Amino acid sequence: MPVPKRKRSRTRRDKRFANKGIQVKALTSCQNCKTPLMPHSACRSCGFYKGAKVMDVKNDRSVKRAQVRQAKQAAQKEQAPAADQE
Ligand SMILES: [Zn+2]
Repeated sequence: MPVPKRKRSRTRRDKRFANKGIQVKALTSCQNCKTPLMPHSACRSCGFYKGAKVMDVKNDRSVKRAQVRQAKQAAQKEQAPAADQE
């Protein structure tokens, strides 16, 4: 039967219970989208802080990427007929 090689120190043992007393902090909600939020932090779902847009969120980045992609495709379409004529 496997047996621990060494005694587990008091420190290591007690680390297990170190976070036992921690309680959930108060939550606020985003002024813009009402998502539950930690106090004094920007909203991750809409990117707002204190009623102002402060950062891009995942959706903003994907929209921006789609716009860039469309612009590239439009540019390619413009070039392709010109290449056929020459
Ligand atoms: Zn929000």
